[in-house]
Amino acid sequence: MSKPLSELSAHPTARPIGAADEIGASAPRTGIGAVLDVDLDAIVANWRLLSARAGGVPAAAVVKADAYGLGAQPVAAALARAGCGHFFVAHLEEGIALRVAVPGAAIFVLHGLARGAEAAMRAHGLVPVLSTLDQIAAWGEEAARIGERLPAALHLDTGMARLGLCEAEIDTLAAEPARLAPLDLKLLISHLAAAEEPENPSNERQRATFERLRAKLPKVKASFANSSGVFLGAPFHFDLLRPGAALYGVAPHAGEANPLAPVVHLSARVLRVATLEAGTAVGYNGRFTTTAPTRIATVSVGYADGFFRALAGKANAGFAGVKLPIVGAVSMDMITIDVSALPEGALAEGDFIDVIGGDADDVDTLARAAGTIGYEILTSLGARYQRRWISHLSAF
Ligand SMILES: *Cc1c(COP(=O)(O)O)cnc(C)c1O
Repeated sequence: MSKPLSELSAHPTARPIGAADEIGASAPRTGIGAVLDVDLDAIVANWRLLSARAGGVPAAAVVKADAYGLGAQPVAAALARAGCGHFFVAHLEEGIALRVAVPGAAIFVLHGLARGAEAAMRAHGLVPVLSTLDQIAAWGEEAARIGERLPAALHLDTGMARLGLCEAEIDTLAAEPARLAPLDLKLLISHLAAAEEPENPSNERQRATFERLRAKLPKVKASFANSSGVFLGAPFHFDLLRPGAALYGVAPHAGEANPLAPVVHLSARVLRVATLEAGTAVGYNGRFTTTAPTRIATVSVGYADGFFRALAGKANAGFAGVKLPIVGAVSMDMITIDVSALPEGALAEGDFIDVIGGDADDVDTLARAAGTIGYEILTSLGARYQRRWISHLSAF
């Protein structure tokens, strides 16, 4: 979603939410291989659940990378309607694109202030999350130039060593208050490196460091917990939660019961159903050979759509409540599924079969099978899908 504003009218998610072909279960388009349903009501329910788990501390929404592949504009618009007032993106251009969808909300740009981005940042009312002294100086100079204080957040490095001001830089800011004086400081943030491991001592170490560093700076609101961080308990909540993945249904702790509602449902078109005799090698390199007469459905989704090759032989599709093993290699545009467990004739060419969610494996199960995390399954979801944003809320 890194498109300049001028191209936005051509972007399918840029149309006003509520257009009939956007929201709701319209029929699959004739030429489409797979349909990705995103349950906006479930996203809103997850957003509310996270805040409730934190005793009512408000939750922002992290919608970087096109809301983890699910469509930043419809997702953010739905959350804004539900009362979400703070959004985080990674890139400036993501923030510019998002502004259309949430005209009144605060949008924070996690990657901070790129050189030369001052005018664009201001024009779209975005708040840079500054993480170097150079960025603070540049934003301060811009503020002095226009004679107005400019809104900013600061990112403090509490031990992840990825982004953020280190302690020496924070000491410089404390010793030289003129550096921050031109800025309207909105938020101090830091990011947990291992929140999904509740037993990892780095969580508490980072929390204590955040408290200590924060005390050196002006007293403004603080944001610390990502999705899994919300489940680490009250000392981790501060003033604003900052979840991404959990909004989209990803389990906060792998392998444990998931308190979040599922959001993603991918179903793909059946291109052919064939009964193969015993001893037939299916797909590239004959990675699967039938041992008995087997009904195989060839289905229109593949690794070019983000269905990882590593899932060959390790995942289940589903139809009519029955889990169906995906067998043989994952091709670029196709997978093959053993549908012998279904009654003969139950599945035919042109039907749509669940591939992620619904009767198929969910995002976290697929991630484990592929040796990755739910985040990567979501952000890899392909560009060829027909995306449908489903909501039954009255606002539509
Ligand atoms: C991506 C990101 C988040 C959201 O993390 P989740 O684990 O998806 O909840 C929060 N804060 C920062 C700084 C991030 O980069």
